[in-house]
Amino acid sequence: MSVEPGRRVAIVGAGVVGLACAARLQIRGYAVTLIDPRDPGTHCSFGNAGCLSRASCVPLGLPGTWKKVPGWLLDPKGPLVIRPSYALSVAPWLWRFRKNTTLERVNAIADALHALLDGTVVKWRPLADWAGVPELIRQEGYAFAYRSEAAFLGDALGRELRRARGVRIDVLTGGAIREFDPALAPEISHLVVLPEQGHVPNPLRLSQALAVRLRAGGATFVAREATGFELAGGRVQRVTTNQGPVETDAVVIAAGAHSNALSSQLGSEVPLETERGYHVMLASPSVQPRIPTASGEGKYFATPMEGGLRIAGAVEFAGLAAPPNYDRADVLLEGAKRLFPGLAHGSVERWMGHRPSLPDSKPVIGRSPRARNAYFAFGHGHVGLTGAPATAEIVAALIAGETPAIDPRPFAAERFSETGR
Ligand SMILES: Cc1cc2nc3c(=O)[nH]c(=O)nc-3n(C[C@H](O)[C@H](O)[C@H](O)COP(=O)(O)OP(=O)(O)OC[C@H]3O[C@@H](n4cnc5c(N)ncnc54)[C@H](O)[C@@H]3O)c2cc1C
Repeated sequence: MSVEPGRRVAIVGAGVVGLACAARLQIRGYAVTLIDPRDPGTHCSFGNAGCLSRASCVPLGLPGTWKKVPGWLLDPKGPLVIRPSYALSVAPWLWRFRKNTTLERVNAIADALHALLDGTVVKWRPLADWAGVPELIRQEGYAFAYRSEAAFLGDALGRELRRARGVRIDVLTGGAIREFDPALAPEISHLVVLPEQGHVPNPLRLSQALAVRLRAGGATFVAREATGFELAGGRVQRVTTNQGPVETDAVVIAAGAHSNALSSQLGSEVPLETERGYHVMLASPSVQPRIPTASGEGKYFATPMEGGLRIAGAVEFAGLAAPPNYDRADVLLEGAKRLFPGLAHGSVERWMGHRPSLPDSKPVIGRSPRARNAYFAFGHGHVGLTGAPATAEIVAALIAGETPAIDPRPFAAERFSETGR
């Protein structure tokens, strides 16, 4: 089943994933409408660490992860927090998460993620050119800094999974670290550099540029909240919103962490959780890392951005409704000062965003099994900026009735009901 170019495609959600889908569809000749009550790129896509992580084939859950969780939870400054009031709600998701941590599952997930993410820089470039912002796609690499050999060795499996899939990894020690980046703390014992990785020094500007180019190409932006769908003969005819329906020939659900409320109305209930993350944006930093640099232990990134230094990371399970706890952002700032001891700065902006996360670290991409002209593009967790262009290519190919270059089957919504994972 295909939808002819020239037909209307409604995209619910104007985050980076929805915008990339809209761009690919408009380039193919579809008449796109983006439905979103927020300005483009201002929800989770606003505040990420900006990394185009070709190497992020490693799922969050590895065979050893469970052993680390109690320690993280006991440490109020650790990388993972579960709000006590949300512990019961998130328990089923965590149970599924655990089922995906066997070595066999981890390898299968890594293969699927590698296929989706490996081409991110190459796939972003033509979209950024199209939007007039080629300078926003950089390929300078990124690094993980470890303070101890034990922590470095603790991440050996992640490096093995990456190397097995062709990712280049250089390990620096001793004086070579200081030579590479003199701003790093002298206690850093191992610096793992991944030179092929990319980054976006201003994720919001990338989204905004896509939106401007889409508008210039005739796209309509509808500032409303989608509430559901009207179907006839197994096809979506209208997207219902809080201010009346939007007629369409096809629909893409790209509503980030809010997507399950919509996909479930089409019969695809998926275990979508929000992994809340934080950032601090430091104006006028006295030092900038040479390339985006993560703390190996703390799991946060320090990324040189237009307008300052951004420290982004942390995982907090507290649901969509709870207010931010900006203490989590301050913990990131403390960590960054340990990573870069000379770091002084001007004003500090704190931010919290909702990563849309599935328990097997893979997004949901594909056609709805119930509504023949509805497509899913959500749940990218920690890698939405990275995975957006490949997701867009898959969705556009499916809508056009073509076989996508990347196999979408590992990303099907049905995987959860079929396997219980
Ligand atoms: C701290 C942090 C650091 C990160 N670092 C990186 C990184 O370095 N690299 C990387 O690749 N990824 C990173 N990510 C993840 C990345 O930011 C997300 O995966 C990505 O932004 C998700 O994009 P999205 O378009 O799916 O969602 P969003 O940006 O959240 O957009 C979804 C949109 O849908 C809209 N919406 C929701 N419900 C409705 C509705 N009912 N009707 C209409 N519209 C609706 C929302 O208003 C929103 O605009 C990070 C995330 C965080 C929190």
